[in-house]
Amino acid sequence: PKTLRLILGDQLNIKHSWFEEQSDEVLYVMMEMRQETDYVMHHIQKVIAFFIAMRNFSDVLRDQGHKVRYLKISDEANQQDLDANLHQIIEEEKIELFEYQLPDEYRLDEQLKAISENLSIQARSVDTQHFLTERGFLEDFFEGKKTYLMESFYRQMRKDYDILMDGEEPLQGKWNFDHENRSALKDKKLLQKPKTHSRDVSSIADEIENAGIETIGSVDKEKFLWPATREESLEVLDYFCESLLENFGKYQDALTTWDPYLFHSRLSFALNSKMLSPLEVVKKVEQYWNKNQEEISIAQVEGFVRQIIGWREYMRGIYWAKMPEFAEMNFFEHKRKLPNWFWTGKTKMKCLSHSITQSLELAYAHHIQRLMVTGNFMLLVGIDPDEIDEWYLGIYIDAIEWVEITNTRGMSQFADGGIVGTKPYVSSANYIKKQGNYCSHCAYSPSKKTGEGACPFNSLYWHFYDRNREKLEKNPRIGMAYRTLDKMKNTDEILAQAEEYLKEIENL
Ligand code: FAD
Ligand code: SF4
Repeated sequence: PKTLRLILGDQLNIKHSWFEEQSDEVLYVMMEMRQETDYVMHHIQKVIAFFIAMRNFSDVLRDQGHKVRYLKISDEANQQDLDANLHQIIEEEKIELFEYQLPDEYRLDEQLKAISENLSIQARSVDTQHFLTERGFLEDFFEGKKTYLMESFYRQMRKDYDILMDGEEPLQGKWNFDHENRSALKDKKLLQKPKTHSRDVSSIADEIENAGIETIGSVDKEKFLWPATREESLEVLDYFCESLLENFGKYQDALTTWDPYLFHSRLSFALNSKMLSPLEVVKKVEQYWNKNQEEISIAQVEGFVRQIIGWREYMRGIYWAKMPEFAEMNFFEHKRKLPNWFWTGKTKMKCLSHSITQSLELAYAHHIQRLMVTGNFMLLVGIDPDEIDEWYLGIYIDAIEWVEITNTRGMSQFADGGIVGTKPYVSSANYIKKQGNYCSHCAYSPSKKTGEGACPFNSLYWHFYDRNREKLEKNPRIGMAYRTLDKMKNTDEILAQAEEYLKEIENL
């Protein structure tokens, strides 16, 4: 072969134009590497999911007649480093041209640029053909603006791709049905079983273990739940349309001990590994809804579409517009270490113990658990965003830096000082109680601010506002909180309670 084409672990897009033609002059290479398993400690299910999906993808390529070189983590010839592996193959195979798809991670982008510059042969990069926009689109779209308003970007995507549109106008007259998407789940009977898969992953799990890769969390080796082929991903998508879409938007923000997934799609791994494309996912959902409008309201569908062509696409744009500075941002100058119980789930606070234990067992938490339980707590107590990134980037099946860091530093922690969001997402126990049943199973009392058994969120909430007054008071969306704080009679007592909890943070 004359050309070597690299496929990274999150570039499993079989519809890419690369694969339209088969040629003996082209060799594809895929590699499982310590470089990728070790830059942060990952959940065991995340490592398994990527390796299996990659192996399945290489089988499909071979079935289609393509030439593939696949380096397993346990292969003798594998040097566990992108640079070293590429040099070796290029020499062995007498390659004349090196091609790669643009990576979605800054770290890999820099590495591939450096590799390409140092090669003695020509190198070229191409688009992944996955996203709706090109890397630099969002930066150009918001040129000169301080805040990058997601909503205006989202509307542009709706128009450009004709999704839920009636000519130039949004279908049924409204762009956004968010206010209909805030219910707590009261009726257990509405819940549906998730569409899981049950692959035996014992052998690959042993391979990972024998290689000495350190991981977090647990896995049922005989029953791996996540989709790891395109076909399986499409099954999860179909199941979402048929069984979950009807209630998706309505219970999107619900919190409950009854079920880890509620009506969420569980599609993030299939999307982020590019087994599915965002456009095909939203088109399929829209088509399904077109045929079933009597059972499913537009609010459910619009809520889902917004997450994918709005938030997901927008976060990717933010990443490329703001990296590498974004990874250093720490608006509140938070420095606290993450309590150890984030790695065990052992805390008396039910909302946190439930969300963390679930994450360790399933490599999954839904959005409101990430934003309003774990993220909220971390922000209230002032955890160092570096520690926060390490936790989120490691623990979730779908965590790839471009979508993890923009959600943590941006949306959840306001560490970017307001690029992604207009105000910090913080709440007291009130919100968590309203959204579900965590508080009724908790050792703490959601209605108490101070004294024996007072919920830590309540005093920590005011502590957060008090200590960040200088940075936040002038924000028009927050003024209300300061007016309340200034009118409160027992402020000192509440702040003292918060201080006590901060001292005792490992034992909460
Ligand atoms: P659903 O609720 O079914 O949503 C459908 C799809 O919409 C998701 O699969 C996802 O692709 C997309 N989506 C929804 N919300 C967002 C969002 N805020 N940003 C980007 N895409 C979104 N998502 C990741 O894919 N990887 C991460 O590492 C990640 N880290 C997060 C960290 C924090 C602190 C927060 C608050 C959110 C994070 N998210 C992340 C976004 C979101 O929580 C997950 O995409 C979602 O929970 C995945 O589950 P699902 O597929 O069942 O989602
Ligand atoms: Fe969480 Fe407080 Fe409710 Fe307990 S009482 S579940 S700590 S919000």
